Amino acid sequence: MANASLRIDLDAIIANWRALDAASGPGTETGAVVKANSYGLGADRVARALMRAGARKFFVAVAEEGVALRQAIGEGPEIFVFSGHMAGDTDMIGDLGLIPMLNSLEQVTRHFEALPGAPFGVQLDTGMNRLGMEAGEWEAVAPIVLGAEPRLVMSHLACADAPEHPMNAAQLAEFRRMTDGIGVPRSLSATGGILLGPDYHFDVTRPGIGLYGGLPFEEAQPVVRLSLPVIQLRDVAQGETVGYSNTWEAEIDSQIATVAAGYADGIHRTLSGCATLWADGVPCPVVGRVSMDLITVDVTHLSDVPRSLDLICAEQGVDDLADVAQTIGYEILTGLGPRYARHYHGGGA
Ligand SMILES: *Cc1c(COP(=O)(O)O)cnc(C)c1O
Repeated sequence: MANASLRIDLDAIIANWRALDAASGPGTETGAVVKANSYGLGADRVARALMRAGARKFFVAVAEEGVALRQAIGEGPEIFVFSGHMAGDTDMIGDLGLIPMLNSLEQVTRHFEALPGAPFGVQLDTGMNRLGMEAGEWEAVAPIVLGAEPRLVMSHLACADAPEHPMNAAQLAEFRRMTDGIGVPRSLSATGGILLGPDYHFDVTRPGIGLYGGLPFEEAQPVVRLSLPVIQLRDVAQGETVGYSNTWEAEIDSQIATVAAGYADGIHRTLSGCATLWADGVPCPVVGRVSMDLITVDVTHLSDVPRSLDLICAEQGVDDLADVAQTIGYEILTGLGPRYARHYHGGGA
C-alpha cells in the first residue's frame, strides 16, 4: 500500500526561523523549540537544518528528547530541558550535557548535589501557574542560584497570542521585578511574545509553532503538505450509506474514494462529515465517520480521481484544518502520527 505522505519543507522552516530572528531584533539570540519531535515534524532533521541556518540554542520538553536531539546534532549547540532536572534524569543530563531549566527548590537541590558545577538554567513562574519557581521561592534561593551562574533565566507567557490581553504586561512587569539586575541572560517569549514587540525580547527568544508555519505567526510560510492515497473507488447508489453508524446517505448516485489515514493518524474523529480533502485544488467533502485508518470522500464531481487527496495543502493550511476540528494548529501538528512517510525538502543538506 502506498503510504500517506507528509511533505516537510525545511527551507520554509529556515525562512520562518530567519523571519522570527529578524523580528526578535538585534542583540537577541533566537533559539528553536523542537519538543515533541519538532511538533511532529522530526526533531533530528529540523534541528540540523536550523543549525545550518545558525541556531545554537534548542529547547525540548523532557530529558529523553534532549538525548535523542544530542545524538542527532552532536556536541556544541545548547539543549535546554523545560521540565528541568527530574528524578531519574541525572545520567542523561550529565552524560549528554543537557541544560535543565530548574523549576523548584527541590530541583535546585537535586541538580547541585548530583551534578555540582554542571550547567543549568532557571524557570520562573510569572503568573501562568504551570511550571517554575514563584516569587517567594525565587527570593529565597536566588542568592545561591545566581552565584552558580545559570546559563539562562526564563518565564513563559500565558496569553501572548492575544496582544491586547492585560496578562502580557502583567507578566512582563513581574518578570522584570524578579530578574532586573541579575546579570544573567533572560528569556520570556515564544512565538507570540516575539510578535508583542521589543519589550518582550530580552536576550533569547524561543519560537516553536511559528517555525512550523502556525498561528499566531500570520506571515509564516507553510511548511507541511499532507497527501492521503486513494486505495479504493466505489460507486454508491442513491439511498445507500457509507461508513460506521450509517451517518451519510447518498442523495444521488455517487462515487466514493476511500483514503488510507484515520484518527490513529491524527485526523480527528470530530472531522467526520465536516472536513474537506483537495484534489488538485478542487474540494471534496469527507462523508461518513472518520475511522481509525480510513476516511471516505465524495469524489462524484471529479472527472479524474487523482492517486491521492490532500488534507493539508495550499488551499487548507494547518490552522484552517484546526478551525474545522475545533482545536489549534499545535494539536493538529503534534497529532500527525508515526505512520506517515515523512519526506523532507530543502534544508541546505
Ligand atoms: C512550547 C513552548 C515554547 C514554544 O511556544 P510556541 O508558542 O510554539 O512558539 C516556548 N517556551 C515554552 C516554555 C514552551 O513550553
